[in-house]
Amino acid sequence: MTHPLLDLPPLTAERFASIERGVADLLSTRQEVVITQGEALLPLEGCIRSGARPGSTALNVVTGPYGTTFGNWLRDCGAEVVDLAVPFDTAVTAGQVARALAEHPRIDFVSLVHAEAATGNTNPVAEIGEAVRAHGALFMLDAVASVGAEPLLPDAWGVDLCVIGAQKAMGGPAGVSAVSVSDRAWARFAENPAAPRRSYLSLLDWKERWIDAGRTALPHAPAQLEMLALEACLERISTEGLPMVMARHSAAAAATRAGAQAMGLAPFVTRPEEAAPVATTLRVPQAPLVASKALAAAPAAPVSAAGEMIRVNHYGQAASLEAVLTSLTALATALGTDPADAAAAAEAAWSETLY
Ligand SMILES: *Cc1c(COP(=O)(O)O)cnc(C)c1O
Repeated sequence: MTHPLLDLPPLTAERFASIERGVADLLSTRQEVVITQGEALLPLEGCIRSGARPGSTALNVVTGPYGTTFGNWLRDCGAEVVDLAVPFDTAVTAGQVARALAEHPRIDFVSLVHAEAATGNTNPVAEIGEAVRAHGALFMLDAVASVGAEPLLPDAWGVDLCVIGAQKAMGGPAGVSAVSVSDRAWARFAENPAAPRRSYLSLLDWKERWIDAGRTALPHAPAQLEMLALEACLERISTEGLPMVMARHSAAAAATRAGAQAMGLAPFVTRPEEAAPVATTLRVPQAPLVASKALAAAPAAPVSAAGEMIRVNHYGQAASLEAVLTSLTALATALGTDPADAAAAAEAAWSETLY
């Protein structure tokens, strides 16, 4: 008996290349896109190990937990690292980045996270990109939690390495990711003797064996199920329309924020314009207890806790009014308050944002 997931015809190089073009279209980029067949930490580590080396100086912007990981990789590569950390309940400003660049003229690599799914903040990449471009450093952006949820224009913003993953707003699996690579970044990788080669982390291998070879033969067997899922994500986004997908995420964030405030909960990210459209974080005393009560009330609610913070995820298919109301009702039940006010506030904010 044939199985729909198991007995598939081989994924052709042509189809692989067409999925790659789909990702490039999603990012409005004319740069080369490399699809990386693993979770997004694969291209993020690949970019850092290819771009950084002993003698380089990196500005690592830390606005959430991933920044710490990037800093560790950069140091591991022998780079001197300037960490620019800001409190996780705000965004970094272009002025702060420009000042750090001016104080350390040798900076030749900048790593930044766009939206932080863990802490619920998002950074003004367009303005930061201007400062980085003026300085001339290579600019790596972790856009895993922003792609599909908010505008992402790597070429217009001067991003040399834009890393995305399918598992957040794109509504896909975690096992596939991608990176757009500028000509400047390829040149930097090529002249770095420490850049990974003959390695699963190597982006240069993909350039040599796939891109420069005319995209006719895949260097190794593709992760077929993940590739098909990525193709399905791209098709679903294009059917709904990227502007609508982003609007749904904005509306979910506005609705969650309004609903939480109506039940007396304070958003962790105080300024709404610095709040990410993929997840809303809330300051809640005894957060783990509240989250476990909420999950007892609604086991499928996308609610979790860390320290004094509750996070409500609203990305992918959960960027819907229904999912937001499920989360808010679960939280209201956990807190012993009436969910009606929260629901009304959420519905009003949803409509106001979307229509
Ligand atoms: C989700 C996410 C990733 C991917 O990491 P996971 O460990 O799979 O969650 C990377 N960067 C950012 C900013 C993310 O939000």
